[in-house]
Parts: sequence; C-alpha cells; structure tokens
Amino acid sequence: MSTKVVDRSPLTFYERTYLPAILGGLKVTAKHFADTVFKGKSVTMQYPEERWVVPEGYRGAPYLVKDQDGATKCVSCQLCEFVCPPKAIRITPPGADGQPADRRNAEKMPKEFEINMLRCIFCGMCQEVCPEEAIFLQKDYSLTGESRTEMVFNKEKLLKLGGTHAGIQKWKHKLEEAEAQETFPVQTR
Ligand code: SF4
Ligand code: SF4
Repeated sequence: MSTKVVDRSPLTFYERTYLPAILGGLKVTAKHFADTVFKGKSVTMQYPEERWVVPEGYRGAPYLVKDQDGATKCVSCQLCEFVCPPKAIRITPPGADGQPADRRNAEKMPKEFEINMLRCIFCGMCQEVCPEEAIFLQKDYSLTGESRTEMVFNKEKLLKLGGTHAGIQKWKHKLEEAEAQETFPVQTR
C-alpha cells in the first residue's frame, strides 16, 4: 500500500496576522448590512415567531402515522428498534394477552412505543426499514422540553404528531387477496 504525504504550505506573514480572515468576515457583514438597509432583504428572522421554510425531503423528527381509517399502522415488528443506530427507539410488544390491533389485517400493535428525541439523529433508517410504512421523518426540527423525560415521546404523542397518511394503503387489500388465493383455480396438466 502506498502512502501519499501531502505538504501543508506554511502560512504567510500576512495570513498569520489574521487580517485576511477578519477583512473577509467584515466584507460579508457589510454586504448583508447594505442589503438590509437599501434593499430590505434581511438575512435574519425573528425566531420563533418566524420559522424557516423546510425544503421538500427534509428529514426531521420521526413520528408514527395512522392509516386512512385513523388506525395504528405499526404492527410492533421491532425492526426499527433493531436498526436504530443510537438505540433511540424502545418498543413494548402487546404480549400474548395484550390489546389486539385496532385495524383489520393486523396481528398486533405495540403496547408502548417510545422515541428518545435526545438520542435520535434523524437518520431515517426507521422509515426505510418499516414494512408497514408506519413511521415517517416529518418536518419538525425544533424540539424543546424542560427535562430529559419530556424528550422521550410516547406512542400517544408520536401518533398525534404523525397524523394520518391517507395516501399510503399498502395492505388495504391484503385480506381480500389472501381469501381470493384460497379459491383461485389451480391449473393442472
Ligand atoms: S431517525 Fe434514525 S436515530 Fe432517529 S429513531 Fe429513526 S432510526 Fe433511530
Ligand atoms: S414502526 Fe414499522 S418497523 Fe417499527 S415496529 Fe412499527 S411496523 Fe415495525
């Protein structure tokens, strides 16, 4: 294996006075000042009253979503919990005698589903891996709380924030298709 040594050119005397960097910074400040005063184009905003417009495809906080009928899409398969790099997700399955799923065609739903937003790095792997399209990174980027406990979002809160995703109906016809297959005429030679 060959190794390439990259020479670092030494700073000149002028650069070592920090003047180029200071003058460069002042130039940017002066440009913004002129834009604000003469063109009315402000580069700052009155946060939190004014909010940044999040671009399409932005990956913010992950929330659980409901289906078109308002039922829980998550089936407690725990794949997202398994892949989550910082282990921010904690799922409690319903257990053998737990509450049944609130929608047809689903075997179960989680008893509890927690995401620790202090750990979450908004990577999107939970969304990628979810077979039920039940968890989505939405546009929230400003999450605040007064305690660590408050930053652990439970199932109820995640479902409320996630809302309904009516456009995604991946398994809508699953039962009908399964029943149709039972009576499907099998071709024999
Ligand atoms: S976005 Fe990434 S870090 Fe956050 S809960 Fe999902 S998998 Fe975990
Ligand atoms: S959100 Fe998706 S991947 Fe995570 S437990 Fe629910 S169904 Fe499985």
